[in-house]
Formats: sequence, structure tokens, C-alpha cells
Amino acid sequence: MAEDYKLPRGTQDFLPLTSEKISYIEYMLKSVAGLYGYHEIRTPIFEHTNLFLRSVGESSDIVNKEMYTFLDKGGRSITLRPEGTAGVMRAFVENKMYALPDTPIKLYYDGPVFRYERPGAGRYRQITQFGFECLGVHSPLIDAELILMNTSMLYMLGIKDFVVKINTIGDTQSRENYKVELRKYFENHLDELCEDCKRRFEQNPLRILDCKVDGEKELVLNAPIITDYLTEESREYFNKLLSYLDKFGVPYEVDNRLVRGLDYYCDTVFEIKCKTPDGKDYGAIGAGGRYDGLVEQVGGPHTPGIGMAFGVERLLLLLDSYNAFDNYINSFDAYVMPIGKECLDFAFEITMFLRSNGFKAECEMQGKSMKSFFKSVDRQKVPFAIIVGEEEMKNGTCNIKNTFTKEQVTINLDDLCSYLNKGLNKEHECQCGGNCNCEKN
Ligand code: AMP
Repeated sequence: MAEDYKLPRGTQDFLPLTSEKISYIEYMLKSVAGLYGYHEIRTPIFEHTNLFLRSVGESSDIVNKEMYTFLDKGGRSITLRPEGTAGVMRAFVENKMYALPDTPIKLYYDGPVFRYERPGAGRYRQITQFGFECLGVHSPLIDAELILMNTSMLYMLGIKDFVVKINTIGDTQSRENYKVELRKYFENHLDELCEDCKRRFEQNPLRILDCKVDGEKELVLNAPIITDYLTEESREYFNKLLSYLDKFGVPYEVDNRLVRGLDYYCDTVFEIKCKTPDGKDYGAIGAGGRYDGLVEQVGGPHTPGIGMAFGVERLLLLLDSYNAFDNYINSFDAYVMPIGKECLDFAFEITMFLRSNGFKAECEMQGKSMKSFFKSVDRQKVPFAIIVGEEEMKNGTCNIKNTFTKEQVTINLDDLCSYLNKGLNKEHECQCGGNCNCEKN
């Protein structure tokens, strides 16, 4: 019974300060996405199971082992989305977005996805993915643009030490050539592979390279690499993409063994890796690739596309390890303290007046002593403490203390807003997390 009142394995509660850090990350990602012409899309958290079978693919670990699938009361098989792209593709087709005249169509989403994985450091069962889909254009420049957008997002967040691991898995022809070679290579070694890889050998031998159990075995490390089986077109496409990444100074490494775990990828695949300053590796912070056949697979017309998703929890872990939020506090601009019960209503009126003028304000209502009020002001790093007693109430004034400069003055309530504005612009602790262009940086 006690279990019932505990957090389910692999999930997390995000308490206020952490939630605000997440909102800050999301805000930064949205701001940069806007610069690149991306618009938000929201799709349901659950979809018909078949959508994921068809799009994510039956040979993927996600479909085979990790989906939260159940029958609803109407007997339909429903799955909590294990990733964001399939639902966006369904919406794209169902809403005939492919007929929109202005391509590429650039969409972003932000929300939970669910995977029954083994929980560990940086690995959860409910994950917030912030993802991007760019539909309608097949071009290495579009692929480069997506990666450039991702890198500027990381720079904006203050993450500098990352690398984009990139590979091409070629067009359909390249992959067919490669699969033949992989099967030839593995067919006499099946007994050395895990049960999953035996299945992968039949369904999609590329997945063997991705296996968490066999992936590091000599046998797998010595397997043929896709690069040797690319068509001329795929090779040129990839080289062009790399030339753009060079031109714009993206830190990347070609990783010929990167194939990615979902069935719908073609040509470009990539993962963004970053270690914490103390060397911890929580796995990729973001990953994606090109999926030119996917829209067709979910019932639409042929539409090329590329997408990627960041794992927001991993970005949070990383930013925390960089102490990127040290300056990040989200307290009030002003905390109003009445001296005595008689002044409470007056203090509350001032608080409401400040709020209606756009200040974050709080009123002390519990009859705290001056000492404990100031302790609370210090703890919350409130820039202005406003104190009102009978005298101030009579005169329409207030006592205001700038907690950073320690300056304390009595001012007319008519001047309060301009006084705060001046002080907040100049002296308040910036809430930028250390990444904006404010005077502190
Ligand atoms: P994927 O959809 O597998 O390409 O994952 C995209 C990103 O989501 C990864 O790069 C991670 O940052 C994040 N992610 C995926 N699975 C997990 C997980 N189980 N726990 C935490 N983050 C994850």
C-alpha cells in the first residue's frame, strides 16, 4: 500500500524553483525557435498504438519494450506517446498541412513523452522533450540550419562545451546495400548476439549497431560501416552538410557508427553530447535526423522532413552542474511590511497597487517581527523592502529600503513606481541566469 503514495519509478516532482528553471530553459528554446521561423504545435499525449508501430517502427526498442500501452474503455489500443514526432506527423497529415503553400513548415512542440526504460542517472520514464520538425524541404542546408539553431540554443543557455555527433545512414538504396553487407557479416555469428539482436538481424540489422548489450562487442565494433555503401548522391549530400557545419564553426564529429534507434531516419542523423564539468555523462542532450518517408508512412503525400528533440531534464542537469542558475532567483521586486495590525490593509493596498503596475509584490500578513521579516527578505533576495506604519499611512508615504545598496528613504506613494523602476533597472539582481547582456555580465 505504501508504494501507492510514492512517486512512480522514473518520474520526478519538479518543485517551484526547479520548475522555474525548466520554464527558463523552455523560454530560451522558444525564443530562438522563433528567430528561425518555428511555430508551436500541441498534439495529444496519447495516440492510437498503431501510429507508433507504423512510424517509430516495429524493430525499435521503443516499440518493442518501452511503450505504455493500454486498452481504453472502448477497447481501443492506446499508447502514451513515447516520442513527439509521430503525433506531429499525424496532425500534419490529418490537418492537410502538407497543402500549405509556404514551405518549409517549421513546427516545435514541448511536452512529456513516456518510455518504460530502466531509470538511472539522467534516464527517466517520463521525459520532457522539446522538439522541432521542419517539413517540405530536402536539402543539406536545411539540415545545417536545424543544427545551427540547436547550437545557438545551447550557446544562449550558456552551454559551450558540446559536440554534435553526426553521421549519414544514406538514402533507401544506400541502406539496402548496407543491410545486405551487415547480414552477410553477422550471419555466421548469430550465436554471439543477444536475443534482441537476433530479432534485429531479421527485421533491421542496422539496429544491432545501436544495441545497449552488444554495441560495444568487438564483433559489432568491427562490422562494416555505412560510409562504404553510400550512393554518390547520399555521399554528396552529407559532404555538403559538413561543409556548412565547417563554415559556421559547429563543433561536430563524424561518428560512422551512429545509426539512431528509430526506424524512420534516412540520410542525416545526429546526437548532441555534453559532459558536466566534473565529467559526468548523462547521455545525449538532444538527437534527431532526417525522415523523408515518414509523412507517407502515416498516410500523407511524400514530404521530406528533418527533426530533433532536446531532453529538457538533461539540459536541466547540465545547466545545474554548470551552476548556470546561481544568479537565478525568482523572488519579488518588493516585499511590503506593515508595522502593526492597523496598517495591514494599507500595506495590502500598496501591494495591490504595485502588482497592478507590473511589479512582483508580496505583503507580509502574518504579524512577523521586523527581524524575521528582514530574514525572509534576505533569504529571498528581495531587492526592496517597503515598511509602512501609522505615520506613513497618515501622510501617504512609505519607507523603502534598497536591500543591495542599503539606502533607506521615505517617499511619496505617487513616486513609488518610478523609484522602483529606477532601482530595479539599475540595481536589482538580474534574473538572466548569467546569460544576458545585463550590466552584471
Ligand atoms: P530520442 O527521442 O530517443 O531521439 O531522444 C531525444 C532526447 O530525449 C535525447 O537526446 C535525450 O536528451 C532525451 N531522452 C530520451 N530518452 C530519455 C530518457 N529515458 N530519460 C531522459 N531523457 C531522455
